[in-house]
Amino acid sequence: MDFFTARIAPAEPTPQDLATRRWIYIPYDRFTDRTGPLAEQPASQTGIVIVESIAKALRRPYHKKKLILLISNMRHFALEQAARGVKVLYHFSPESHGQALLKLQRDRKLPPLTVMSPAERELRIDLAQAESQGLQLLYVPDTTWTSTTQDFLDTFGPYKPGKSYVMDRFYRRQRQQTGILMNNAKPIGGQFSFDTENRKPYKNQVPIPAPPTFPPDDLTQEVIAFVEQTYPHHFGTSEGFNLPCTQADCDRMWRFALEHLLPTFGPYEDAMRDDQPQLFHSKTSPLINLARLLPMDLIRDVEAASADDRIPLASAEGFIRQLLGWREFMRHLHQQTDGYRLLTNKAPTSSLTGATPSALNAQLPLPAVYWGVKSGLHCIDTVVAQVVDEGWSHHITRLMVLSNLATLCGFSPRELTDWFWFAYIDAYDWVVETNVLGMATYADGGLTATKPYVSGAAYINRMSNYCGHCQYDPKQSTGPNSCPFTALYWTFLERNEAILGNNFRLQMPYTTLHKKKPEELVQLRTRAAEAIAHLQSFKRPNY
Ligand SMILES: Cc1cc2nc3c(=O)[nH]c(=O)nc-3n(C[C@H](O)[C@H](O)[C@H](O)COP(=O)(O)OP(=O)(O)OC[C@H]3O[C@@H](n4cnc5c(N)ncnc54)[C@H](O)[C@@H]3O)c2cc1C
Ligand code: SF4
Repeated sequence: MDFFTARIAPAEPTPQDLATRRWIYIPYDRFTDRTGPLAEQPASQTGIVIVESIAKALRRPYHKKKLILLISNMRHFALEQAARGVKVLYHFSPESHGQALLKLQRDRKLPPLTVMSPAERELRIDLAQAESQGLQLLYVPDTTWTSTTQDFLDTFGPYKPGKSYVMDRFYRRQRQQTGILMNNAKPIGGQFSFDTENRKPYKNQVPIPAPPTFPPDDLTQEVIAFVEQTYPHHFGTSEGFNLPCTQADCDRMWRFALEHLLPTFGPYEDAMRDDQPQLFHSKTSPLINLARLLPMDLIRDVEAASADDRIPLASAEGFIRQLLGWREFMRHLHQQTDGYRLLTNKAPTSSLTGATPSALNAQLPLPAVYWGVKSGLHCIDTVVAQVVDEGWSHHITRLMVLSNLATLCGFSPRELTDWFWFAYIDAYDWVVETNVLGMATYADGGLTATKPYVSGAAYINRMSNYCGHCQYDPKQSTGPNSCPFTALYWTFLERNEAILGNNFRLQMPYTTLHKKKPEELVQLRTRAAEAIAHLQSFKRPNY
């Protein structure tokens, strides 16, 4: 800690600073002075409070690289603010953020602290508890988002049980509202979405540019040692840490994505490779979720690049839809449903226990393969190894490999959510709970997605090179060498027919299922049961 504490010490406020400056609390995921209260007055009139909470880091066995990314960005942000003349109260605490702030405000006689409305439900509850004990906060809107709660309510109205939400409606409205990729109230290119053009497998058609590197500086080295010492049993590895931790490096990472990756993003958005895991994905989510990169800045950059023909429209629209549409849609949905608790409870709650919807009644424990124990299923083993190493994998691997297997087998959606939450470096409650309980597992019974995102081996084989390196045969659905995904897929449909049988988007697969001969169905059931037993046979590590 010596390196950092020595450098931040000169920014320590005097009693006069405490009395005369505007004091702002910076949550652990809002490192920006480009918008919000930090951008509203000169640095010479500003003070910030930052809490490094051990209690928060210990809430789950967060990936070591996530803790390093977050803590190093937090400390670098504190130094960046100090360098421009902001006074900094950087507080290390074994307690939660709320409790640490409460004590700090009392001990240092701090005035009420301005704070942007927290993104994470967990932090909102923590702060509310401390407020009930005397903590004084002044909430202001979080201007890092690209939409307001009212935008969401104007599209869908207030939450009602049984309601279905379609992201596309919200996205179209936001395009019209913001004028992004619009011309005279019409979508540029004549359509709002080019999703159907973005489904090619990647077979070395265009080279993938080498990404920039971010070797850890002295401060980050100190954080790596601190994380190894304080959280030695957490998930993943700290080895090879190579993520941006300064504002300048975060901007550099974005410029690289904008110039070199996004021009080819669209067509290969859904492709998967064991030798090129990132493909053309920007890998910006960890930095956007820390507010190091602001979504509206990224959207404007991509829109400008599209207007200059530096990024094809289908790629630009595909990227903008994720940020202007999906990301905002998910966080509103989380807030409106009290983190999906309203699906199972009648009223909002202050409980920190995770919501447990499971529309398909999936209850099997998540098996050890998600912790890196080899299963022999090459797709799963490859993606899990990447997550253990990096704490990141791209969208389709999350959806159509990791979550697909869990949904098909009937593994608990809550356990899968908790796994994603600690295993991924970009996970926060508002984004991980909605994506896993909603989009990926259908645990919410169709609130977020009109059908479960599930597939047999055919999809994975078409969109990846995994199957070519696997011991199983994606073309066989029964027998010992057959790919387990296909048998699991048919038995999943069969098992859930009472719930899914009338879903109009599943009519084709159900028609095919009904044409299968009884002997084949028996073989499929046997193969699926063997696969689940095989996956459940490995012992899970304790965290
Ligand atoms: C099971 C599952 C779990 C997920 N968990 C998370 C999570 O914990 N944190 C997270 O940020 N994203 C999550 N996502 C969404 C998405 O997979 C990641 O945002 C994306 O893969 C991050 O990589 P990227 O920055 O290269 O994204 P790109 O493909 O380059 O997309 C650009 C940006 O759009 C945003 N975005 C894209 N899709 C979504 C989405 N569905 N929800 C919210 N934002 C989106 C991200 O900020 C991302 O950086 C999850 C998706 C699934 C299916
Ligand atoms: S054959 Fe089946 S298990 Fe193997 S990589 Fe392909 S989809 Fe995965």
